[in-house]
Amino acid sequence: MADTSDETKLIMEERRRMDIKVEEITNVIDGGSNNTTLRRKITDMIQNDAILSDMDQFYKTEEEKYSRGIRRALRVRKLDVDFNDTTTQRILFIATGKEIGLPIHSGVFVPTIMNLGNQEQVEKWVPLAVNFNIIGTYAQTELGHGTNLRGLETTATFIPESQEFVVNTPKLSSMKWWPGDLGKAANHAVVMAQLIIKGESYGMMPFIVQIRDLSTHLPLPGVKVGDIGAKFAFESNDNGFLILDNVRIPKENMLSGVAEVDAEGNFMLKSDPRVLYGGMMLIRVNLVDSQAVFPLQQACTIATRYSIVRRQGSIQSGGDEVSILDYVAQQHKLFPLLAASYAFHFSSRQTHELYKIINAEVKNGEFSNLPELHALTAGMKAYLTEKCLAGTDICRRACGGHGYLQASGFPNIYLQQLASVTYEGENTVMFLQCARYLMKCMSGVINGRKIVGIPSYLNERMSDRCHATSERDLTNHDTLLQCLKHRSSFLIRQAKEKIDSLTKSGKSYQDVWNITSVELVNVARAHLEYYIFSSFLQVIQNMNASADTKGKMGELCSLFGLHTINENMADLLRDKYLSAKQARLATEAELSSLSRIRKYALGLVDAFDFTDKTLMTCIGTYDGNAYERLYENAKRAPRNKTEVNEGFYNQLRPYLLKGRDILEGTKSKL
Ligand SMILES: Cc1cc2nc3c(=O)[nH]c(=O)nc-3n(C[C@H](O)[C@H](O)[C@H](O)COP(=O)(O)OP(=O)(O)OC[C@H]3O[C@@H](n4cnc5c(N)ncnc54)[C@H](O)[C@@H]3O)c2cc1C
Repeated sequence: MADTSDETKLIMEERRRMDIKVEEITNVIDGGSNNTTLRRKITDMIQNDAILSDMDQFYKTEEEKYSRGIRRALRVRKLDVDFNDTTTQRILFIATGKEIGLPIHSGVFVPTIMNLGNQEQVEKWVPLAVNFNIIGTYAQTELGHGTNLRGLETTATFIPESQEFVVNTPKLSSMKWWPGDLGKAANHAVVMAQLIIKGESYGMMPFIVQIRDLSTHLPLPGVKVGDIGAKFAFESNDNGFLILDNVRIPKENMLSGVAEVDAEGNFMLKSDPRVLYGGMMLIRVNLVDSQAVFPLQQACTIATRYSIVRRQGSIQSGGDEVSILDYVAQQHKLFPLLAASYAFHFSSRQTHELYKIINAEVKNGEFSNLPELHALTAGMKAYLTEKCLAGTDICRRACGGHGYLQASGFPNIYLQQLASVTYEGENTVMFLQCARYLMKCMSGVINGRKIVGIPSYLNERMSDRCHATSERDLTNHDTLLQCLKHRSSFLIRQAKEKIDSLTKSGKSYQDVWNITSVELVNVARAHLEYYIFSSFLQVIQNMNASADTKGKMGELCSLFGLHTINENMADLLRDKYLSAKQARLATEAELSSLSRIRKYALGLVDAFDFTDKTLMTCIGTYDGNAYERLYENAKRAPRNKTEVNEGFYNQLRPYLLKGRDILEGTKSKL
């Protein structure tokens, strides 16, 4: 490439001007400088590895992406890192980028056995799986049912005579459909099936079923298995279908950490059945980082850097062209997302911590906090995947035409996120599960019970009116916390009143729930917004950082709170907690913060510390050299390998020759 480009000069100048402690913020994001060092070490290992550093997937076919994914999955396992360390696991998620193959094998099959198997089963299956000596999938969803687990039709019937289970998918709608790694790779599956003993059903239980021969890889007798066909994205994964026609498995293949069947066919519950869903909670907690929050941070990084180097039009008449980030409308698209990506990161970390605490309690037989954790992880999964997906598209659109190119990096990020609103619990259903818990809490409050944990604000007697009189008041963290708390509490109470009134009118519980479901989804969102904001505040309060960094994090926290309130102003006006005048002040306060954040926005995205290789972008690299990279990338496009392509010879030529003749006034000699 030529000398330093104008765009690189622009971004370097911006970095020179800004006053922000980027490295300190990086440490805060990582949860300490040790973690930053570890993350960089692992990132270096990956980016110096010939197989793992191959991030370029433009123009690869589906099959190439699939084999590349598997190659990378096997290679990751060879890295010299501590795979049991949760920080390392999270770092690996980001640093390996997208398209690591066998994600369900490593991310669901293995953890499910660890969570739901007994000690013997864990010792038998986990080492085999971790070393890729068997490849597994998690087969729950069926062609006819996904969300409604009670509707799943696969059965596992106990045969006392042979001490076996017969696993069967009795009709078309009961075939397993969607499991990742199933289509072509897996030779084992954790199959979720209705346990049947002596004609009686005992609910959904997990069974390990071998589906393919380990040497020939052909389906075993009674098994039909294959890929479900092309999808929106995730070409590196072989989501599959599975038909089981009376397949026999030994009795010890029922994962028996939670429940067991003895030789005579007696069913014994060994633990609280809710533990069955413990694995799902962990998967949800983990997936929001890799599939929602990190992608949004990446999208913000690309859009903010590009918005600095992209100059278009001027603000003053006759003035110089400005960076598009100088337009307030552009700042209003990007900065609330940037604030949200920080808020989501810290609140997700808090949820991790809570998960660890409550999981330890559960292991000691204490289940009282499990419902709260279940509601929180379901709600956070839905809220963060929904918001981050929408946010990535806003970032894409903020980059105009170039944002639509594969080379922007956005398609890769967006398509990866797209399915996250559906799998591991469809979002509406997740919001409703969260709301169900909040309704129970509200019933408790009405019946004089003191609520503990996150919804404990329902016990409080809150002020009827917000007392803010200025923009400054409305930027105050405590004022914002009260607003979010008030809104959530108001919506919970309103939904509960509606439920009670419909119930009194004689409607069934199911009808009442269905009629109120739109309000209930909103209730969950409001509660989660309060939780995210309050988590961010807690992190800032306990942050080991300079006053300057705390101040900048505080500004982001206020912006997240203000933007959330402004987006949902109708609730607070309806409740009369805010007046029309205060609503106006809240809008002004949000807009005022944009110009302050403009001064160091680049530092906020640099602090995420994504390498160019991880971002896979031409327009959002650290050096800002967007135009040269775009042109270099275009020159590499397969279509540009020949000056004249086949389409011309095969189809267009006769028409064009005629055009030539007409223009030249001569007759074709062909
Ligand atoms: C990329 C991808 C990977 C996947 N990987 C796996 C895997 O490895 N293993 C596996 O077992 N499954 C997997 N799945 C399946 C996934 O878990 C299900 O698709 C998901 O749980 C949603 O269930 P569903 O398809 O039945 O949707 P549905 O439940 O049919 O949802 C359709 C619509 O109905 C609405 N709806 C449904 N029930 C209710 C209700 N009670 N109240 C209000 N609205 C409702 C939903 O909100 C949604 O709008 C995968 C799916 C995808 C897309």
